[in-house]
Amino acid sequence: MDNEKFVRPLVRRLRAYVPGEQPGIDGLVKLNTNENPYPPSPKVLRAVRRAADGRLRLYPPPTAQALRERLARLHRCRPENVVVGNGSDELLAMAVRAFVEPAGRVPAARSTVQWLAPSYSLYPVLAETHGARGVAAPLEPDFSLPSPARLRRTPGWRRDAALTIVTTPNAPSGRAYSRPELEAFASSLRGVVVLDEAYADFADGHAMPLALRLPNVLVARTFSKGYSLCFLRVGYFVGHPTLIAALDRIRDSYNVNGLAQVAALAALDDLPYYRRNFRKVIATRERLSARLASLGFEVLPSRANFVLVRPPRFPARDWLARLRARKILVRWFDLPRVREFLRITVGVDREADALLRAARDILA
Ligand code: PMP
Repeated sequence: MDNEKFVRPLVRRLRAYVPGEQPGIDGLVKLNTNENPYPPSPKVLRAVRRAADGRLRLYPPPTAQALRERLARLHRCRPENVVVGNGSDELLAMAVRAFVEPAGRVPAARSTVQWLAPSYSLYPVLAETHGARGVAAPLEPDFSLPSPARLRRTPGWRRDAALTIVTTPNAPSGRAYSRPELEAFASSLRGVVVLDEAYADFADGHAMPLALRLPNVLVARTFSKGYSLCFLRVGYFVGHPTLIAALDRIRDSYNVNGLAQVAALAALDDLPYYRRNFRKVIATRERLSARLASLGFEVLPSRANFVLVRPPRFPARDWLARLRARKILVRWFDLPRVREFLRITVGVDREADALLRAARDILA
């Protein structure tokens, strides 16, 4: 039966997002998806276990109000400035739906989602899924923000685009942008600007105040990276109440599951534990970067929980296979600008040491 005809043409053509592998190989050193190598706080595990009882039959709090209030306290704003999502991925998709028109009989700016490249490969998928115009402006060769001249030369880039997404610290380069740079960049745009700060916990600064000062800026954060909660999927946006209310209007009623809300609240009650983890990851990142550099890798300075490196002697793709043969999984993107690089998640010291041993072995 020709049941393909039931599928929208746009969906038939869609190139879906490809997440990093989650293989179940024993003894694998898994440095491919930027997960946090440390477990959630014992208080979080206890809270989740305690909540897993007969109450699972009940719907969770629909707006995650307690979590919004706790996050508002953390960021010194009001709950109306915060919306919580099923991971920040969900909120990014909601931002496209709330602020961008599908291309058609609307001015091009209204249907434009733009971002900087290379960055998170989900953005083009979100634009495509929505039938919007996706535009990628190249970062400078050192992965700094593109100059106004470069943006003018980028076909389709517009100051009045409905939505612009900036990843800071950038993935996959690890490069972070300063608050004044981001403020100048966001102020030069007339649409909504999302600053995707998924990795901000490992950086030495962040741009949260811009979300509370500029009416067109949203800052995206996640519990996945800093707070070791990928499995439960919790992210949030902070921004002007008008933008937050728009996102809230299109939110699924129970978008954040109950155990995730419990875990996120418990995590925020144990910030010292997580801040210790941020510092440990940063220390390992700096040690790993220095050792890889001494083995002949070109290491880009990173403010995230991963490093982008250009390996010596063999092409990056070969390194991927050679490391995998030694049970070490890293990420390689077959994309312009990053094809010659490997992205390595910062693990615990023992994992970094295993990677360094394997690299020495490959180079021997
Ligand atoms: N933004 C960036 C730049 C990311 O790398 C990721 C993780 N893949 C996310 C957002 C999404 O994180 P989550 O949905 O787990 O909150």
